[in-house]
Amino acid sequence: MKKIAVLSLAQARILDRRDSLRKFRTAFHFPRHGRTSALYFCGNSLGLLPKQAAMLLKEETDQWKKFGVEGHFRGKRPWMTYHRQFTASLAQITGALPSEVVAMNQLTVNLHLMLTSFYRPTSQRYRIIAEAGAFSSDRYAIESQIRLHGLSLSDTLVEISPRTGEHALRTEDILSTIRQHGATVALVLFSGVQYYSGQYFDIASITKAAHDVGAFAGFDLAHAIGNVPLELHDHGVDFAVWCSYKYLNGGPGAIAGAFIHEQHHQKNLPRLAGWWGHEEKNRFAMRPGFTPMAGAEGWQLSNFPVMSGTALLASLAIFRKAGMKAIRQKSIRLTGYCEAILTSLDPQQQHFLIITPSDRGAQLSLLMKHDGRAIFDWLTHKGVIADWREPDVIRIAPAPLYNSFEDVVRFGDLMQGALKAVAKRKKRHA
Ligand SMILES: *Cc1c(COP(=O)(O)O)cnc(C)c1O
Repeated sequence: MKKIAVLSLAQARILDRRDSLRKFRTAFHFPRHGRTSALYFCGNSLGLLPKQAAMLLKEETDQWKKFGVEGHFRGKRPWMTYHRQFTASLAQITGALPSEVVAMNQLTVNLHLMLTSFYRPTSQRYRIIAEAGAFSSDRYAIESQIRLHGLSLSDTLVEISPRTGEHALRTEDILSTIRQHGATVALVLFSGVQYYSGQYFDIASITKAAHDVGAFAGFDLAHAIGNVPLELHDHGVDFAVWCSYKYLNGGPGAIAGAFIHEQHHQKNLPRLAGWWGHEEKNRFAMRPGFTPMAGAEGWQLSNFPVMSGTALLASLAIFRKAGMKAIRQKSIRLTGYCEAILTSLDPQQQHFLIITPSDRGAQLSLLMKHDGRAIFDWLTHKGVIADWREPDVIRIAPAPLYNSFEDVVRFGDLMQGALKAVAKRKKRHA
C-alpha cells in the first residue's frame, strides 16, 4: 500500500480553496472527536445540524411564549400556514410545481398515504414492480398494502435483483421486467437512490416504461432529495415521498414530504383524509363531508409540527443559497475524488470492492472482503463517523454542503491505517 503523500493534502487544500461552496461548511455543527471535529461521512443517514436551527427554534418558542394559541395567526411565521414555508424550496429541489409538494408526516406514513391513493389493484391490473433489497420500511409498506387488498404477496410483488456477480441494477433489466408484466402492472415503485448500493436510478426511463404499460410510477426519494438532481414534474412521476433528515439536514425524525403530480390534482383520488387536507376556507366549520384542498396539500392529515420544522427550514435556506446545480457539481467531484483515493489504496481489490456504480449521488458503499467490522471499528475509534450495514458494507457519504476535499484525503489516510492495523493484529494472533 502506498503512503498518502503530503502532496495530496496540499492538493486537497487547493481544491477546497477553489470550491465555491466552501463557505457553507461553517453553517453546520460538526460532532467532536476529542479536541477536534470528527470526520463526518454520515449525511446519508443523518445530516448535520445547521447553526441557524437553534435561532429558528427559539423564534417559535418565543412566539408560543408571547402569543399562546394566537401564534397560529400572529408573528413572523403564523403556525396555521407554517407548512407553506417549505413549499418553494421543496419544489425547487424536486423539480416540481409548488402545488405538487407538501411537507408533512414521516416518510413511511406518506408512502402509505400514496399507496392508498395510487395502488388500486383490479383483477387484471394488480402487480407492483420494485427493487429487491428495498429499504425494510418500504418493503413492509408494500407487503401490508398488498395484504390489505387481500392479494397474495408472491403473485403480486415482482422484485428485480442485480444479475449474478453484479451489485447494481441495469436499467434495461428494469424496463424489460416492466414490459414483460405489461398490463398486469398497477404500480412501479423504486427508490431514487438505493440506500445500500448508492445507485441513482433512471427515474425518467422507469417512469416512461411504467406509463407505457398503463401503470403508475412512484419513487421513494429518501436518499435522493438534496443529493441528486430531480425533475419530478417534467418526468411525469405520479407520486414521490421522502424524509428530510438525510441529505436535507432536517434533524432526527424531521418532517417528511410528498409529491403528487399536477395531472392527478383534479381527479379527487381516494385517500385517507384528515382535517388539514380539507378545504382551507371552511376547515374550521368542523362539518362532516371531506372536500380536499387542491394539490398535494389535500393529502395532509394533521396540523404541522412547528417545532420540528425549524431545523429543516434552516437547512432549506442553505440549499436555496447554494443551489442544487452547484451542489451536484461539487458532489460529483468530491465523491469521484474519494473513489480515486480509495481505489489507489487497494488497486487489486483485495480488501474491498466499491459496489456503488457511477450513476450515484454523494455515497460510496464499500463491500469489505475481510474484517469489515474490525476495520470499521478502527475508523470509528479514530474519529470517522461513517455507517456500517450488515453483513459487510461500509457506507461513506461525502456531503458536498459540508464535507471538504481535505476530509476525503484524511479519510483515505485513516482507511490505509485501518487496513494496516487490522492486518497486523491478525498476524499477531495467527
Ligand atoms: C431512511 C429511509 C426510510 C425511513 O423511514 P421513516 O419513515 O422516515 O422512518 C424509509 N425508506 C427509505 C428508502 C429510507 O432510506
